Amino acid sequence: MKYSEQFQVKPGSEVRLNKVNPDYTAEHTKKKSAVKQVEKLDRKLRELQYLLYAENKRSLLICLQALDAAGKDGTINHVLGSMNPQGARVHGFKAPTKEEAQHDFLWRVEQQVPKKGEVVIFNRSQYEDVLVVRVHKLIPKEVWKGRYELINDFEKNLFENGTHILKFFLHISPEEQLLRFRQRLDDPARHWKISENDYAERELWDDYISAYEEAIRKTSMKHAPWFIIPANNKWFRNLAVARIVAETLESLGMKFPEPTVNIKKIVRKYHHAELEEEKKIGKSKWKQLTTEAKRDTGSKKDGKSAPRDKRTKKSDRAILRGKEAQLSEARKTKEPEEAGKSH
Ligand code: AMP
Ligand code: MG
Repeated sequence: MKYSEQFQVKPGSEVRLNKVNPDYTAEHTKKKSAVKQVEKLDRKLRELQYLLYAENKRSLLICLQALDAAGKDGTINHVLGSMNPQGARVHGFKAPTKEEAQHDFLWRVEQQVPKKGEVVIFNRSQYEDVLVVRVHKLIPKEVWKGRYELINDFEKNLFENGTHILKFFLHISPEEQLLRFRQRLDDPARHWKISENDYAERELWDDYISAYEEAIRKTSMKHAPWFIIPANNKWFRNLAVARIVAETLESLGMKFPEPTVNIKKIVRKYHHAELEEEKKIGKSKWKQLTTEAKRDTGSKKDGKSAPRDKRTKKSDRAILRGKEAQLSEARKTKEPEEAGKSH
């Protein structure tokens, strides 16, 4: 079964977080058994994001929400780590600044949505404005109650403009949270992450869970679904999120844009010397030679010489020398013309 089906909250369905097992790891009993799948997924994600970027037609918005220490940072590091930074970014939402607080709650969010071709991850999101504000009674109930519909309208509008939205709730148990807080205390490199506020928030666990349940139920839509991810095991959390993102991008049927130039013409015009050579010695031999040439140059750096087929070594070198001479000849005849153009 696709994870994008399995973990999705169907629109309108009841959400009971205490019925979802945060220790769930599907068929995997240990991290080791999931590693291969995760590596494959990472490569897939990279390819798909490259395609999204090249296509430049639509975008992906990932909203991450969770209680403290559930692994938002780790998930971002993993998912974005497999992507090309050109075309993927993260934005975190903290308590609103003075300026942000002078606008409607979606004002700061609108400014951060992805443009075409882009993947954006929200570390916290528009949902804080129906979660933390509710739990801490920062605004009247009538105000946050009205926001579910505003969020739905906002996300519908994004979707109709080509933004695909995935919303993840990383689900951990209170015991796991306490354990992770403790691990932070034991690790000087993570002391900076500890705040007493985290312990104060922990006291409000049940209120947060109720707020999440209502928010998820009222805003999980076919075009902007919520996923509840069992997150007590970091490796399974990473696997599940990566798989859902990959499945979603795969389902879009993306295509590389048509070239804006006539490829055959370009090859004929600028690569005719190589083409001639290729014709002379045959395609497969040409491929073998250029691969070997590349390997030779690469191996020079570490001082080792690349393994070669001794029987063809001499003749290969001769052919390559011929090719180099031909290429430099071609360059010489082109250079005066191009130099003239740039001055
Ligand atoms: P962190 O994600 O640990 O850096 O913390 C960010 C803090 O900002 C969290 O305590 C959030 O609850 C808080 N925050 C984010 N958005 C809002 C908001 N709209 N209103 C109030 N607090 C917020
Ligand atoms: Mg925090």
